[in-house]
Amino acid sequence: MLLPKFELLQPRSLEEATTMLAESNGETRVIAGGTDILVQMKWRKLRPSRLVDIKALEELRGLRWGQDHLRIGALITHREIETNQRIWDRFSALAEACRLVGSFQIRSMGTIGGNLCNAAPSAESAPPLLVFDAQAVIVTADGKISLPLEDFFVGPGKTLLQPRQLLQGITLPYPPARTGSAYLRHSPRNAMDIATVGVAARVTLDEGGATCRDVRIALGAVAPTPKVARSAEEALRGKPLQQEFIRAAARLAAQEAEPITDIRASAGYRREIVEILTERALILAGQRADIAP
Ligand SMILES: Cc1cc2nc3c(=O)[nH]c(=O)nc-3n(C[C@H](O)[C@H](O)[C@H](O)COP(=O)(O)OP(=O)(O)OC[C@H]3O[C@@H](n4cnc5c(N)ncnc54)[C@H](O)[C@@H]3O)c2cc1C
Repeated sequence: MLLPKFELLQPRSLEEATTMLAESNGETRVIAGGTDILVQMKWRKLRPSRLVDIKALEELRGLRWGQDHLRIGALITHREIETNQRIWDRFSALAEACRLVGSFQIRSMGTIGGNLCNAAPSAESAPPLLVFDAQAVIVTADGKISLPLEDFFVGPGKTLLQPRQLLQGITLPYPPARTGSAYLRHSPRNAMDIATVGVAARVTLDEGGATCRDVRIALGAVAPTPKVARSAEEALRGKPLQQEFIRAAARLAAQEAEPITDIRASAGYRREIVEILTERALILAGQRADIAP
């Protein structure tokens, strides 16, 4: 199937890009790696008359390791994340999620910004970014705003972004000492497939290593948006990281999920998988926290 006709705009600066978007008549879309939007255009789900190609924008590139946080440019690809040892050391759940995306070709083209802005409930990078308390940095022709990533998603395929806005990147505060994290996903097919369920967990242990000082849990593909499992977190925070407490938290995570039945799985099956993956992700994150500096 051929792509519908469109005009391609290639801004050289962020300012030029935001001006192009501000002047748009609502039929203009941003394109980064194109692995989501071109498929949607081919299937005639989207018919933008203009595409603003943001790939040349320096301001959206790279990783910046600041004093107390990491800034990830929206154009960073999954491949760049999965091959970065510093990310594995500090934000393992994120590297783990990016390593699971599509194929080598998709990971080399697909960007973190595109993954978040496409806003699929199954978006692989979302649960790990949520457990690391990510902030989304949004730019318009008038300036920049920063908001919790959790508030960025408003529904399947929908974000808070207005057509005239761009996601510049995300910032992640460095996790405290003795923190470990993990991302696990389930898809019944061995072939390339999106997540039927994805779970990210982050555990920070106390100095003695026995108690869970802090914990974050986020779920993918089981609600209209990627979702933080708050009651599960509360149940485990301050408790010994032992099987009975981990299991109780996993059960609560399954209750908090709002899965649907679709071609990939039934709602009941998804709920069961949430419980299993949450338990496993917490155990793995705890083991990693135990050996973390
Ligand atoms: C075969 C295949 C397998 C896949 N497997 C997976 C998988 O396992 N897991 C998974 O999560 N995803 C998967 N995907 C989906 C896709 O590859 C990812 O979501 C990817 O990260 C999208 O990034 P992109 O740069 O290609 O986005 P694009 O297609 O360029 O853009 C996606 C959307 O985001 C908007 N956008 C992009 N960047 C910005 C920005 N900076 N500011 C504002 N709006 C922006 C675009 O307008 C568009 O609406 C797969 C796709 C294919 C085709």
